[in-house]
Parts: sequence; C-alpha cells; structure tokens
Amino acid sequence: MSRNYPKAVVFDLDYTLWPCWCDVHIELPLKNHRPDEIIDSYGYKLALYPDVPSIIKELSENGVKIISASRTPTVHIAKQLINHINIDGTPMYKFFDSSQWGTGSKTKHIMEAARELGMEQELRNGEFILFDDEYRNKDVNSIGCNFVYIRDTDLGLTRDIFEKGLKKYYN
Ligand SMILES: [Mg+2]
Repeated sequence: MSRNYPKAVVFDLDYTLWPCWCDVHIELPLKNHRPDEIIDSYGYKLALYPDVPSIIKELSENGVKIISASRTPTVHIAKQLINHINIDGTPMYKFFDSSQWGTGSKTKHIMEAARELGMEQELRNGEFILFDDEYRNKDVNSIGCNFVYIRDTDLGLTRDIFEKGLKKYYN
C-alpha cells in the first residue's frame, strides 16, 4: 500500500516514544540491558513503546525527516537515552535529522528544526506533523504544524495512532 507522507514528522519523547519522564524516572549512568533496552543505576529498565521502532524505520526508509522535540529540563539524560537505545542495531539518535530539546514552547522547537533543515516553507505549507501526549502542545498549529494527540500514555505512539494521524492530514 502506498501512502502520502508529510515532509517531516516531529515526535515528543516522554510518554510518546517511551514510557517515562526522563527527568524523574532515570538515574545515570545507563547501561544496555539489551540492544533495545537500557537499565539505569537503580535497575530501572526502559525500552521504546512496541510500535515505535517500525514507525521510525518506515519514515526513514521513505525519506521523511524525523525530528524530536522535548520540553525536558534534563537534556543530558534524554541524550543518553537516544544514544543507548538501538533500533535494529542502530543507535536511535542516528534516525533523528534534528533534535530540539529544553523548556519552553514546542513552537520554538519546531521553528528551530525547520530553520536548521532549511524547511521553513514546508512548515508553513502544513508539511510537518507533531505526535505528542500533552494537549497544550497543540499550539504548534499556530506555526502551521499539524498536531496528533496521544491520549493513552500506557500505550504511547501506536501504529493505529500513527496511521490515523497521517490519513487525517495527508490522505
Ligand atoms: Mg510527552
């Protein structure tokens, strides 16, 4: 089945790609428990939500730019997580074309990513979509970025949410 993709997909991190707040739940240093799972200094284990690896690979294989945007105050922990967690043997950070993290609005994060990637026109044209579990981040609509709300943080980003989100805006 062929489908239409946006030019860029933006992902929140905590409770969108993985089931934790990295500023609250994770204590450094990290080790790999398995290639796709880390264990922190207290023995807490963390992996991506089950559908996330195949979604990221699919976007990458189809030339869609992948951006992470997180309001985390602990950027250094998020960085360690994406360095350690592997997707099919490749460290996750290699799949991200731009990562914009830190406190403040996601409009700022996404505008910065668009600038970095030379995609400001695409952003204005509605070719960006954000998947996020916090409804307040819907304010990205004001800069032309589409928004898909993830309601159930037990499941995070699922294949179903991903498919429906793309279909709604890029059918
Ligand atoms: Mg979140």
